[in-house]
This record gives sequence, C-alpha cells and structure tokens, in this order.
Amino acid sequence: MDEPLPIVAVRTLVLFPGVVAPVTVMRARSVAAAQAAMRAGRPLGIVLQRNPAAEEPGSPDMHVLGTAATVLRYITTEDGQHHVVCQGLHRFRVTGWVEGGPFLAARVAPLAEAAADTPELRLLTAHLREHALEALHLLPQAPQELLAVVRTLDSPGELADLTASFMDLRPVEKQEILETEDVVARLQLVAERLADRVAVLRLSRGLRIVEEEDDPLPAEAAELAAAIEAAGMPPEVHAQARRELKRLERIPELAAEHSMVRGYLDWLVELPWGGAAEPAIDLAASRRVLDAEHFGVEAVKRRILEFLAVRALNPRGRGPILCLAGPPGVGKTSLGQSIARATGRAFVRVALGGVHDEAEIRGHRRTYVGALPGSVVQGLRRAGTRDCVMMLDEVDKLGRGGRGDPAAALLEVLDPEQNAVFRDAYLDVPVDLSRVLFIATANLADAIPAALRDRMEVIELSGYTEDEKLEIARRHLAPRQLAAHGLTAKRLEIGDDALRVIIRDHTREAGNRELERRIAAVCRFAAVRIAEGEAGPLRVGAAEVPGILGPPTVENEVALRAGVPGVVTALAWTPAGGDILFIEAARFPGSGRLILTGQLGEVMKESAQAALSLVKTRWRELGLEADAFAASDLHLHVPAGAIPKDGPSAGLALVAAMVSLLTGRSVAPDTAMTGEISLRGLVLPVGGVKDKVVAAHRAGIGTVVLPERNRKDLEAIPAAARDSLRLIWVEGVDEALAALFGGALRPS
Ligand code: ADP
Repeated sequence: MDEPLPIVAVRTLVLFPGVVAPVTVMRARSVAAAQAAMRAGRPLGIVLQRNPAAEEPGSPDMHVLGTAATVLRYITTEDGQHHVVCQGLHRFRVTGWVEGGPFLAARVAPLAEAAADTPELRLLTAHLREHALEALHLLPQAPQELLAVVRTLDSPGELADLTASFMDLRPVEKQEILETEDVVARLQLVAERLADRVAVLRLSRGLRIVEEEDDPLPAEAAELAAAIEAAGMPPEVHAQARRELKRLERIPELAAEHSMVRGYLDWLVELPWGGAAEPAIDLAASRRVLDAEHFGVEAVKRRILEFLAVRALNPRGRGPILCLAGPPGVGKTSLGQSIARATGRAFVRVALGGVHDEAEIRGHRRTYVGALPGSVVQGLRRAGTRDCVMMLDEVDKLGRGGRGDPAAALLEVLDPEQNAVFRDAYLDVPVDLSRVLFIATANLADAIPAALRDRMEVIELSGYTEDEKLEIARRHLAPRQLAAHGLTAKRLEIGDDALRVIIRDHTREAGNRELERRIAAVCRFAAVRIAEGEAGPLRVGAAEVPGILGPPTVENEVALRAGVPGVVTALAWTPAGGDILFIEAARFPGSGRLILTGQLGEVMKESAQAALSLVKTRWRELGLEADAFAASDLHLHVPAGAIPKDGPSAGLALVAAMVSLLTGRSVAPDTAMTGEISLRGLVLPVGGVKDKVVAAHRAGIGTVVLPERNRKDLEAIPAAARDSLRLIWVEGVDEALAALFGGALRPS
C-alpha cells in the first residue's frame, strides 16, 4: 500500500476537486503536514473535522471522505501566519488513520469519477448549468472567470463540485455533497441546494470561493488598500476611499460600524471606475447579430440600427433613449441582449416596476441602517463595466405617490449633461454613467410618466401572427430548448405541424413566452423517454402533442360560442396585448330591467345603458314590437374572468348582441367588432386597434368591424393580419348593423 497521505484537518473548508482555494494553516500539526507534503512533492489531504471543537483531532473527530490536493503555493506572512494555496485533485476515502506522528496522516483509497453519458445526465447538467449561471448573475461580484468556467465546463461531476463550492452552504452540507459519489445523485443534490439558496443569494452580499481554516485573514486593511489602488478611481473617489479606510482601521472589528464602513468600501472598490476606451459600434456587425437572433420585426431592427448609428457618430449626444414597448414575450429583453452583444457590451436589467421611492433609484443615505446604493449603481456593479447596456425594465410601472419622485431621479440618470457625475446618496461620490447605453422597456408606452416619455424614442412591438410564431419557434425557440435539454435535432424532431398545434391550441398570447415553455415541456418529455432507454430518434408531430401537453387549453372559442343569436365577439385591449371577448345577451319575462354581469367597470356599464337606449329608439327599424322591452328583463354577460372589462370600446358589440337577441338573427361566427357608440348612433374611434386586430387574426377571426375614424391605424397593422382579414370601416351604428346582419334587418 502507498505511503500514508499527510492530512490537514479543517473546520470550515470543504475543498472540491478542480477548485483552487487558500487554506490558512494555524495549528502546528497542520503546518507540519503541509510542509511534509511540499517536501515530498506529494499531494496533501484536506479533510473536514466532524467535531470542530477538537483542537488536536484524531480519527473519531474526522470525516472519512476528503480531497487530495496539489499545493500550488506556500505563503508565510510577516505576522507568522501560514497559508497554502491548494488545488483539489480528486476525492478519497480514508482506509486507516496513522496517528501519533508529528502530523495526522491517513491511508486512502482514491475515488475515480465515472459517469455513463446518458441523456438524463446531460439533462441534469444543462439544468444545473443554467441555474448556476442564474445564481451567479444574482451575485454582484461574481468574477467573470467563474461565469466563463461554469459556461464551458464539460464534466458534469466537476460542474456540480464547482457550483457546490461557490454556494453559501454550511460545511456539513458541502461535506454531504463531497460524499455523494454518484454523479447523477450529486447533480440532483446540488441543484436542490442551489434552488434553496437562490433566494438567500439574492440577499447575500458575496461569493466566497476563498474560505479559511480558522479566522479570517487579518490583513483586511492591507487588502483593501491594495484594492483601492487597483480600482482606477478618479481622484475625488480615491481620496474618499482613503479617508474611509483610515476610519475603518480605528473602529474595533466587532463594532457594528465596522461592517458598515467595510461594506461601503467594498462598494467603492468593486464598482467599475476605469476601463479601456468605450468599444466602437460596428454597424455591419450589429446588423448581423440582430438579424441572426431575431426573426421578423424588420422595422424594429431597422430603427434600432438607426439609433446605434446616431450613437456611433456622437456617443455623448443628447439623443433620445430607446424604449421598447409591447406586451410580454414579444422580445424586448432579448433585443436588448442582442444590442449588448452586437456592440460588445455587458448586459444588465434594472427592474423599475413598482418602484415608489426615489431612494430605490438614487440610493439611501449611509446614515440609515441597512442602507444600500440605488438600483442604477447596483446594476453598474453587476455589469462589472461601465460599457454596458442597462435595461430599465417597465418604466411604465414606475410607482407614484411614494417618497420623492422616482421619475425625476431617472431623468437625471438619463441626462447626458448630468449623468457623468451622477451622485448616488449612499456612495456620495460622483459616478460616471455617460458610457452606459440605456434602453427602457414598457408594456404600455402611454403610461410612462410624461417627462420621461419626452426623452424617449418609443419603438412599439405588437404581437406575432401564427406564421411568425412558427418561424420563431423553428429557428430560435426549439433549437435553444433542445440544447438546454441536452438534445439535438437528430434525437428529437419537433414537426412544424406539432408547433402549429402548440401555438393554436396550447398558447394564447401576443408574445412567445408560453410557446417557449410548451416547447421546453416537449423536450423534457423526450429527454425522459430517451433516458428510459428509447433508442431511435423521436419525432413529435401534431398527433403526439395532446399526449404530451394534455388536451388543448385554448379552445377554439370562436367556433364554439358565436353563431348563436345574442352572442357576439368583441375585441378587448389589455397591457398584455389584444384579446377577443364574447358578449352574451339573454331575455326573460320581467319589468324592463337591464342586468349586467361579468365584473364590468363603470364605463362599460354606462356604455351598456347607452347601447340599450340606442336599440330602444330603433325598435321600429328593427322590426320589433313597441312593448318588446317593457315586459322583459335583458341580461348582458361578459365572461372571461382574466380580462379587465372596462372602457367604452365594447359599445358597438353591446348593441349588436342586443339586436341579435331581439331579432333572433345571429352574427357570423368569425366576425368581431370594436367601437364606442354615441346616443345619436355614431361609431366613435377607440384605442389599441392594432393589437386588437392582431389578436382577432390570431383567434381565427375573418372579418372585423371598426370605426371609420380609426382608419389612420391601418398602417400600423402588420401586413399578415391586414391582408388576410376583411376590415369593414363604419361611421354609424346603422351601417354597422347592416354589415353584421345584412340588409334583411331593415325591411322598410
Ligand atoms: P419580453 O422581454 O418582451 O417580455 P422576451 O425577450 O423575454 O420578451 O422574449 C420571450 C422569448 O421569445 C425569448 O426567448 C425571446 O428570445 C423569444 N423571442 C421573442 N421575439 C423573438 C423574435 N422576433 N425572434 C426570435 N426570438 C424571439
């Protein structure tokens, strides 16, 4: 049997194979073990103490699974401390302890790492990688190299080990992971822990690959001083950092103020102050990236390129800020990421939805307990470079009525005359934001505070048509999901017919989010089948979809509902895009009451009253009895709980539903309508026409009746919808009724 391995017993560090970490060796026996290994040019064993209290741990105090490590460097600091920088090699199991010598040693059996390359393994690996990257993005100071390693590391076992090593876990939890020899089980365990920790990581300030055996390195001040010099701070910031460092040295380490000053200095040190010159914008390359990553949206890509062209010519100009507006899932975020890639910049998102308090943007003064910089400075630190694209998400949901004015703080951030010396209340030193490329997003451009909107160039993204979604799914979503699940197009082929069924029967949205999730579900299904031993390539066609995703979740409501007297299809508009809505009317003996249900808003209720009055005044033309109304109650119901139902734009549909009911004539099932009405019978223009028409197209509607005065919106309607729909523009209610019911309604 081999020579016994010198062992360093550690109390907090679990060293994983492949990871480099400094170990502070304080106890004489640990120093002797490290030196023996160095002298013999042999690995050193690192083993966690089972009993951290033991000063001179022997076999009962030790775990039996440890890591053999190469000693890369041995450092003795001036104050006599010893540190060994170790690189983990492989796991071993202790087969026998050798005690009584000058240091602890053990006979060990190395554990080889082998895992059969199964689809399940690849699936788990992809899953873990994705979540590890997500977790790292949450960490303000995750080193770029670590991100790169997680992205490219091939070996599943090493990925699990590396992820475990940067997680903020208790030593025993790490030991449990070390002891999980089976790679699949280890991947699962780490993924579970990671999920548990993400919430904590959000709060946790840092990432610690470096752990120490005993107490933290004492050279805090020296380390900080070096970091301050290395940070490339402008003179004013540098002076402030030096002043604070002096203060820190005077405050006892256990005082609460110590950690406050320390936290402040960490912020100063870690913000990107220096950096090479701003990367130039290469327009041809930008065009290639935008085209390669986004299907369709030609007009949007063109305007983005125009915007970049202006920026390329005049990087500090007072040009407008780009704002991508549209319903969820239409590609605002992914366009922003493309812009970052296209211009060689980092990408960060700053969430503004629901921000009420100016301090959330501008930071809290340091005098507050738990104060932090504002979201803009936090974003800058996450980006790690001033040359970044910072996406200001949901500017339309910026809260009002809190403390201060968040919109005003944002204006200052965006103003090139002020943002080179932006002052965050926490940092209290000028920060240069002039190299940051800001892009805003909104669901609803009209809801952006006016002063902010004035500074923005709004680019609207409406929803996609079925054909566009099919292309996006084929070219982008499916390949991405296949890769994420460790599959290839050869192993799993998702047919176009299947994609169409998914789009039609399993999603109902303007964007592509749900669609991407459904495709992921198909990939998961296939991955499991392959893991269970299914050998040949799989093909999922339209017929297989219900077996995988279940019965259609989006019924073809148009065909189901309409075509019955008293039921008509209206078009609604919500911040999530357009949608279709049914209006149902019923009549029964009563006393002339109008009953409204379906959680209608006040404006819509009034609109129903107006519709009834209008129908009453036309009883003769409609061929009704004069007392048609007095002896019955009329009930209007608008189902679909998820859609907010207010506003005047259903007026025309309400009239049509009543007329249909009272005359017993149905409206063609594939006809929808929108329009406000006046008591005199005019059809007045409404908002959201483009989104409504796109939604109608998506829902399989063939004819849409619209107010003549909305004809100006025709341009904005995507050609695919415009060309395949019959659009009927009407000025008055009578004209609309004639179009809906044919001339037969007016016998005169
Ligand atoms: P948003 O930020 O508008 O909510 P996302 O950017 O998250 O939308 O888009 C949702 C998904 O759809 C992403 O995976 C995105 O890459 C994809 N996607 C959206 N639009 C397109 C497009 N035109 N071409 C390719 N993929 C797209």
